[in-house]
Amino acid sequence: MSGERLLMDNYGDPPVTFVRGQGTELFDDSGKRYLDFLCGLAVTSLGHSHPRVAATLATQAGTLLHVSNLFDTEPHLEVAARLDSLVRSGTGEATPGRVLFQNSGAEANEAAIKLARKHQGRGRHVVLSAFRSFHGRTLATLAATGQPEKHEPFQPLPEGFRHAAWNDLEAFESVLDPTVGAILLESLQGEGGVNPADVDFLVGIRRLCDERGILLILDEVQTGLGRTGRWFGFHHAGIRADIVTVAKALGNGVPIGAVWATAEVAAAFSPGDHGSTFGGQPLAASAAREVLRVMEEIDAPACAAAKGAALTVLLEALPGVIGVRGLGLLLAAELDPDVLDGRTGPDVARACLDVGLVVNGITSTALRLAPPLTVTDDELAEGVAILGSVLAGDREAIA
Ligand SMILES: *Cc1c(COP(=O)(O)O)cnc(C)c1O
Repeated sequence: MSGERLLMDNYGDPPVTFVRGQGTELFDDSGKRYLDFLCGLAVTSLGHSHPRVAATLATQAGTLLHVSNLFDTEPHLEVAARLDSLVRSGTGEATPGRVLFQNSGAEANEAAIKLARKHQGRGRHVVLSAFRSFHGRTLATLAATGQPEKHEPFQPLPEGFRHAAWNDLEAFESVLDPTVGAILLESLQGEGGVNPADVDFLVGIRRLCDERGILLILDEVQTGLGRTGRWFGFHHAGIRADIVTVAKALGNGVPIGAVWATAEVAAAFSPGDHGSTFGGQPLAASAAREVLRVMEEIDAPACAAAKGAALTVLLEALPGVIGVRGLGLLLAAELDPDVLDGRTGPDVARACLDVGLVVNGITSTALRLAPPLTVTDDELAEGVAILGSVLAGDREAIA
């Protein structure tokens, strides 16, 4: 990288320039090969350059790119139908819901918050979420994000957001009052350190919501679409959602987000209440349509469950790893402080990158791993061997 950087400095100094990807592999501008165990933060679940997604995009680009949401187009109708059936597949709900397309996770959550407020009405507008949660970077989704240190530089934030301790049902119940209209939760806190919700916690939250007429919004932006071993993370708890948001894996790298809501809740929006120039436009929706077709064909949740179990076994056998947590193929490896010897999770992630493995230092002592759901057993073994060498401080062995 030469000269002054023209890009704003909010991602630090990127250490690598990637030019090409194929399946689990990435290649940088010097031709060096990497294994991608991060997937652009749980986005490229079908691997890089998936041939069917690439072909669909090329065809759609030569057919119809954009007409606005004033008119119907074909790709997003199939995406809506598939999303609706996948959301309901885990809950046994008979009545179809409805879908609204956006361009990202934060936008999907922003739309979900607006939908909940419109449905519940003024005076029941408070959204309760968890400490250590992550819901996005727009002003409202930042307000919902339970990390006060991230709020400070941007005060004042929109009003009507409240937080309670993660996985603590009593803490949630104790801050409820009649102004709370919605509870917004991840089924597994991804950015917060890869911490799954307890099933009892989610079941208890659902009961509180039912008793008090509160809407339950599940933020499945990182956990949705098979990643955790079920189609959606909240399916592990067998509960019903009023609103579900998805984004990351939906386009396998093409930006698209969506909000699903029950028909009764969705009816709160009428023309003019919300909109997006690009949301659900044909190019992005064609990618999502092919992603969902492929995911259903390969049984994406079963892939995540099987490969996640295999990766867990490999990690647990690795000297220097003292614990593995998470669900499916969204895992964190907790590292032994003795082996870290002053290094942090991000230091280890950086050392892995140097020797060809992309992972994320999620806390000062843990790595986040989210390989593609299509990862092979050989690639899992190779990636874990690279991590093992880094933890052993033995760069020569793999150079
Ligand atoms: C990534 C993420 C978001 C934000 O998505 P963007 O597409 O970056 O706006 C929201 N919620 C969760 C749980 C996420 O992991």
